[in-house]
Parts: sequence; structure tokens; C-alpha cells
Amino acid sequence: MSAAPLMPVYSPAPADFVQGRGVEVFSADGKRYLDFIAGIATNSLGHCHPKLVAALTEQANKIWHMSNMYQTELQRSLAQKYTEASFADVVFFANSGTEAIEACLKLTRKYHSSKGNPERIDILGFEGAFHGRSYGAINAAANPNYLNGFGPPLPGYRQLPFGDHDALKAAIGPTTAGIIIEPVQGEGGVRAVPTECLKGLRELCDKEGILLIFDEVQSGAGRTGKLFAHEWAGITPDVMAVAKGMGGGFPMGACLATAEAASGMVRGVHGSTFGGNPLAMAVGHATFDEISKPEFLEHVRDVANHLHQALAGLKDRYPELVQDVRGKGLLCGLKLTMDPLKVRQLCFERGMLVGTAGQNVLRLAPPLIITPEHVSEAITILDAALAAARDEMKAAA
Ligand SMILES: *Cc1c(COP(=O)(O)O)cnc(C)c1O
Repeated sequence: MSAAPLMPVYSPAPADFVQGRGVEVFSADGKRYLDFIAGIATNSLGHCHPKLVAALTEQANKIWHMSNMYQTELQRSLAQKYTEASFADVVFFANSGTEAIEACLKLTRKYHSSKGNPERIDILGFEGAFHGRSYGAINAAANPNYLNGFGPPLPGYRQLPFGDHDALKAAIGPTTAGIIIEPVQGEGGVRAVPTECLKGLRELCDKEGILLIFDEVQSGAGRTGKLFAHEWAGITPDVMAVAKGMGGGFPMGACLATAEAASGMVRGVHGSTFGGNPLAMAVGHATFDEISKPEFLEHVRDVANHLHQALAGLKDRYPELVQDVRGKGLLCGLKLTMDPLKVRQLCFERGMLVGTAGQNVLRLAPPLIITPEHVSEAITILDAALAAARDEMKAAA
């Protein structure tokens, strides 16, 4: 492929995908792939789900965009659905995960300043986190690969070691505003935060009067078999970002919050031209209506259990390559003893798309509609890819 005039910030695989159907995608040269990454946990209902196609095309024939200068019934009713299904009282619609995070961060500082505590600006995050690519998001996660070269780190952001309660307690002080965490860390290595830790965070935030922010951009939208991953822990945040899977592939995000946490978000303090756009709202409704069904979430839990068991089988067969099965629900992966990019490539050659994450993790985030047959096919390909990786490793030794 000749170099296109695109900023070379990505390293895409050498295939142009032109068609998708359910869990399958097809490249321009007609090759079929099993999609076990779903546009990074985004095509929650697979490709071209009939209900999403219908919702989008129907809306495309009505009205596309008005901006937030005018009301949209679709926006009000989708916010209603999300608040009825969650801890939240209010919703701010954005266009991406990063924007949803940005709204959470701004809301958190605004909350304290509107209560007369403008000095409370510090957001505590965790090493290995990923919250997006805006200045706020890269400072909240502080991955040096994403921060370096973009000027001095912003004041008011601190990172703590993953799972170190004492360090966290010691870090909280009179200028702390909030704690931000992914209930299941995605990019950082598909690590589920233990239930006790999430409960401990809730208690700590209540005691200190600081806001608990959950980044469920990747783990929400039914991905773990609950509408939101934090439901497994039986606690709720004050503020939450969702995006990726909530639009089934249409760009959208949202910041959800309690009325109390959002009390500083009054007229004029925040906004978006596109956020809550009718096209996104129409698809957002259709996606929500599917993924929020109890029987759909039960399907996700069942098929995820099946997948986790099958992955454990791979761990037994390739102990020298697979250290662990990671994650929760259909946000899962294999922690490898080698660079997962190699295994991703071997899967690609065998007609399957997978992702990678930090800590040598091969990441799987298939559409939530996968069946046991898709799991079997995926395991067969992974098995062959791991066998090939092992053979290459032996040959090189
Ligand atoms: C992808 C992701 C983001 C950023 O979302 P974008 O839509 O890429 O801006 C933020 N947080 C988490 C946990 C993510 O996985």
C-alpha cells in the first residue's frame, strides 16, 4: 500500500475491511475474518445488526443534526433509560470516550468549587490506566508514552500503584477532588479490579467527601455480563464515563452522574456541538434496548463463562506461553510470556481479529452476540496460532 496522507499515528494491519455481518468481517480481497475485537469492544451487537441499521437509516431520513440549541426528544428519552437503569440522575452526551472522561473530570472539579472548595482539584488515578487522549485524559492516566512531548504534565493529577490501598490512603488530602478508575482495566492489561477494592474505594470516597469516578468506556454496555461492570461489586460511583459499546459502532459517549455530583454543572459551564446528535441517539436507543434485556445479559454471562473455560484449556495446553486468563465477561484475554503482537499476527493470518493490551496480554473483546460456535472457532484458531508461536520459539532457541 502506498503511503496515504494520513498522520502516521496508527499502525494498521494490511487489510481494508469493506463489509461486516454479525461476528464476521470481509476484506477488500474477499477474505473472511472472525472478529474477536469488535472495533475495540465497540461493535457490541456485531456488524450491521438489523435493528441498528434500521434505526440509523430511519433517523437519517428524518433529521440529522440540530445542536444543543434545540431540544431532542430522543436525547431526553435515552437519558431517561440510562438513569432508570443505573445509579445516575443525569446524563451528558458526548461523542467519544475521551469526551465523556473530560466531562467527568470537569464535573468533579466543578462540584468542589461550587461547594466553596476550589482548592480541591486533585484527581487520583492508577498506573496502567487508560482514559483517552485529551490533555485531561492523558494526565489522568499519565502513561509516559502518551504524555511525553506534550508539554509539562498538568497540575492536579496523581497516579498510584494498582492495588496499593495504603499508598492511596496516604495520597488523599485536603486538595483531593476525586478518584478515577476502570473497574476492569482495558488497555493496561485487561485486569479486573477485585470487588473488595471497589468497595474500599467507595467507603474511602464517602469518608473523605470526594467523588468516585468510574471509567466504564470499555467495560460498560453489557460487556461483562452486567450493564455496567461495577454492578458486580454491588457499589456505585458518583460519576461514570461510558462510550465504545453504547453506540454499537456509531460514535457516542456519555457522562452519567448523581444529581449531587453534577450540582455544579449548570447552564453554560460545559457543552458540545455534536453531543446527543439525533443519529447517535437513534442508534443509542436501539443498542440500549438490546443490551439491557435481562436475557441478553444472561447470554453474555453464559457465553463468557464458556469462553473463559476454553481459554483456561489453552493455558493448560501451552503453559510455556500462556500465564493466565484475565478479565471479566467478554472483556478478557490471555497473559502471555511473549509479545502478544506476534500471536495477534498469527491469528490474523488464520482469519481472526484479536487485540493486545499492556503486560503482554492478548485481548479479546468480541461482539456480545457471539455463540458457542464462534467460541469454538476462535479457540481452534488461537490453538493453531499458539502452536505456531511455540514452534517458532523452539526453532529460534
Ligand atoms: C477507549 C477508552 C477511552 C477513550 O475512548 P475514545 O472513544 O477512544 O476517546 C477511555 N477510557 C477507556 C477505559 C477506554 O477503553
